[in-house]
Amino acid sequence: MPKLKRLLVSACFETAQRRRKCSRNKEHEISKGDKCLVIKENMEKNNYCMECASLILEKAREDLDGLIREVSKSEN
Ligand SMILES: [Zn+2]
Repeated sequence: MPKLKRLLVSACFETAQRRRKCSRNKEHEISKGDKCLVIKENMEKNNYCMECASLILEKAREDLDGLIREVSKSEN
């Protein structure tokens, strides 16, 4: 069985080793020791505060739900 292509970009939660700024909104500070979402895309690595992480994941779910709906439509 061929290996499945993973749709998701590399994303994981990390604990900030130092103070960081949220990649979506520079006003959002991620303090040292705070959990943040790290997304590696192409050669870039971005980190997001938990507030933005929740929005990003919610949007990803909506996008996936839309695609899954398309698949089930064409199956019937
Ligand atoms: Zn943020």
